[in-house]
Amino acid sequence: MYPIIADLHTHTLSATHAFHTIDVMADSAARMGYRVLAVTDHAPAMPDAPHIWHFQNLTSLGRQLHGVTLLFGAEANVMDTAGGLDLPQSLLRQMDWVVASIHSPCLPGLLTRREATNLWLAVAENPYVDCIGHSEQENYRYDYELVTRAFARNHKVVELNGNSFNVRRDGIPNMRKLVRACYENGCYVSLDSDAHTTRQLRENIAPLLTLLEEVDYPADHVVNSSAAALVNILRLHRRGSAEEIGGLLS
Ligand SMILES: [Zn+2]
Ligand SMILES: [Zn+2]
Repeated sequence: MYPIIADLHTHTLSATHAFHTIDVMADSAARMGYRVLAVTDHAPAMPDAPHIWHFQNLTSLGRQLHGVTLLFGAEANVMDTAGGLDLPQSLLRQMDWVVASIHSPCLPGLLTRREATNLWLAVAENPYVDCIGHSEQENYRYDYELVTRAFARNHKVVELNGNSFNVRRDGIPNMRKLVRACYENGCYVSLDSDAHTTRQLRENIAPLLTLLEEVDYPADHVVNSSAAALVNILRLHRRGSAEEIGGLLS
């Protein structure tokens, strides 16, 4: 059993297909005993996403809410097979936590396995991407063995996404293969709810725990299973807030 202390991929009412304010989400996280909540709303290329000013103004929330430490982040959209994202580097650099994901409205059409492999190899080299979002989708299947080696080399966190059990079920068999490749190549992973509601914040993690326990994943590589593991990855990613977060969690 992994003691989850943080959720590193969550959404708020800033997009209308999510339903709770950051205040309600943080309160819910506090009641679950979480110490950290990353706010990662959809970046601007996604229909229904907040304006870029949302991301520029995240720090106005303050670092803690209901006793929970906030990570100011985004779920950036991968826009092309060269790994381009829809937020400027200058803003990505300032953030605490950037998830990069493929969403079909931002990358229309299917990708060949080679294209998807090249896309993630390019994202792996982006110093301002912390986490690889729900990459198990069948439409964008890539070479797990090859790419997880690049993720491991660059300390990228590969997320296991609990919302995939609700909205991307075709990729669940792939998720098992991806976990295995991550395990064999020494990747960092996180268990993320990708919650669009407080109910999902509470319920989306349980199926992921089962997946990790099946392979007996080493806890020090599950970045949201302890404050030490989380601060370690923030430091590895040279995040400017790593020491501040470390101080708050010590
Ligand atoms: Zn997503
Ligand atoms: Zn999301």
